[in-house]
Amino acid sequence: MSTTKKRVAIVTGGGSGLGLAIAEKFTTNGIDTIIVGRDEQKLKKAKDQLGDHCYPMTCDVTNLSAIPGFIEKITARFGHIDILVNNAGINMKKEFTEVTDEEFQSVITTNLCSVFAISREVVKQMLKQGNGSIINISSMAAQYGLPKVIAYSASKTAIDGMTRAMAVELSPKGVRVNAIAPGFIETDMTAKALNTDPERKQKVFGRTPMGYMGKPDDIGEAALFLASDAAKYITGVVLPVDGGNSIGF
Ligand code: NAD
Repeated sequence: MSTTKKRVAIVTGGGSGLGLAIAEKFTTNGIDTIIVGRDEQKLKKAKDQLGDHCYPMTCDVTNLSAIPGFIEKITARFGHIDILVNNAGINMKKEFTEVTDEEFQSVITTNLCSVFAISREVVKQMLKQGNGSIINISSMAAQYGLPKVIAYSASKTAIDGMTRAMAVELSPKGVRVNAIAPGFIETDMTAKALNTDPERKQKVFGRTPMGYMGKPDDIGEAALFLASDAAKYITGVVLPVDGGNSIGF
């Protein structure tokens, strides 16, 4: 990937949380960044915050049949796609036996099937260009067993496998594929999961050697690095950005 050419990135779920932090890191570094989400108002607010390099585009990533047309529209408008960050995701915390098939499928469709469909379409363009960088957002739920998040854990573990499978197939053709495994980062998603469960919160801090939660900006920094030429020999890795949580005792 050339550092002189204007780079174009897609960040799904770029209107809030980690996606917004990643988009902010990209735009402040001059990367034209398309933020994708369902909520037009939320995207507009993000655009106001991020400025000229930010391009909001509405799409529900679970509408799989609409993905090819959506990516085609982006390619027609921007000419190339250099970076894809598959960040949009949902969590569902529930006892194992309480989870319905529909709920399980809904998490899998959002967190996994959409990542496959979007990546497939973007890769078609990246292969024409002969380069590209894809970053999937995984989770600690794929590093160790977490109770009460069965569908989420299944989806994120599959993301790690898909990252490696894509990397071996696509890296010889110039497309690097990596994942970031955020630890416990301060966003609405973690607030929801931890504030209602003091025991879980205690456990998180107990095994995080750095002793505090990460900031969305920490994930933005990692994404900017993996997307850049500085990471040109890195592919197929799942990078924990977690204050040591994944190796904590
Ligand atoms: P968040 O809820 O703030 O952001 C998720 C974004 O995805 C939202 O903007 C949401 O609108 C979007 N989204 C969800 N479903 C969508 C759909 N069908 N179509 C389009 N957009 C959709 O949560 P977050 O904490 O910023 O999470 C971002 C990613 O990071 C997720 O994949 C999550 O699993 C992962 N993650 C977060 C943490 C954490 O500590 N916050 C830890 C590990 C992994």
